[in-house]
Amino acid sequence: MSNPSIGFIGLGTMGEPMATRLAQAGYDLTVSDLNEAAVERLVALGAKRASDPTAVASQAEIVFASLPTPDVVQKVALGDQGVASGSKVRVFVDLSTTGPRTAKLVAEALARNDIIAVDCPVSGGAAGAQKGTLALMVSCPTPTHDELLPILNHLGKVIFCGEAPGLGQTMKLVNNLVSVTALAVSSEALVMGVKAGLDPQIMLDVFNAGSGRNSATADKLPRAVLPRTFDFGFSTALSLKDTRLCLDEAEAMGVPMPVGSAVRQVLNMTRAAFGDNADFTRMVCLIEQWAGVEVPTTAKK
Ligand code: NAD
Repeated sequence: MSNPSIGFIGLGTMGEPMATRLAQAGYDLTVSDLNEAAVERLVALGAKRASDPTAVASQAEIVFASLPTPDVVQKVALGDQGVASGSKVRVFVDLSTTGPRTAKLVAEALARNDIIAVDCPVSGGAAGAQKGTLALMVSCPTPTHDELLPILNHLGKVIFCGEAPGLGQTMKLVNNLVSVTALAVSSEALVMGVKAGLDPQIMLDVFNAGSGRNSATADKLPRAVLPRTFDFGFSTALSLKDTRLCLDEAEAMGVPMPVGSAVRQVLNMTRAAFGDNADFTRMVCLIEQWAGVEVPTTAKK
């Protein structure tokens, strides 16, 4: 059986490297983004250009989206010139972090046009997108999962979360809450240790050999904080969006999250101090300001 035609909408930090991997794997690919330079780079790899989401969905059976926020995903999927109006599309795969409510809303609306919606939020950052080592949290009908698997395997490890729309998105929201909470508390610990006279590299060595190990001590702090590059590749605005989506969902479900609420305020303060586009690892600089101490620079790992 020949490979299905693929569309890709949203060629940003995550979308461009994922679309690049699919182009390099030889798929018949049609792309669209508001950023012409990103479209040009995919066209140079053999992809076709489409003017809007409807045009993508009239060229491709399976349409992927990697877009910033729930409202953009809803507009691209269901709005004027949206995916829903495409003549060829059968499956819409949302790789963005949009939350379960948007996933359910989009799935119900697309079902009216016989288009199957797939939750497929991803974890692993820009580096994981480039290397094809993302974690992909998929929820959709099982036959659709089976059809998508050979394509998704080019992007990373597929973890099937169930058939109901929204399950993959819920998994992603709680994953990111755990990740950003680990970053916040590890940043506090690092600054305290430095103020007490500990070497930050020794602190990371101990955390990573011991019970304090987490994704911040193992990756974010050595890669983006100790070298003071603050370039992990995830913006404060996007992290705040994910945390807000998670807490709103938890509140609607009657699940109190006091720790998550505190982390949300840390992100709000990081945004107020450094702006929407600042990398979320910048939160360590806030704690440094309050503590009156700076974590010393080391060479980039
Ligand atoms: P980004 O802002 O870098 O990319 C978004 C892209 O969408 C941009 O290229 C933008 O031009 C394009 N776009 C916006 N509106 C559009 C429209 N109407 N039509 C076509 N294109 C449009 O964001 P990102 O960091 O790549 O994140 C994308 C999604 O993945 C977000 O939901 C984010 O939360 C999630 N995510 C990001 C990371 C990360 O480390 N950056 C990790 C996991 C998940």
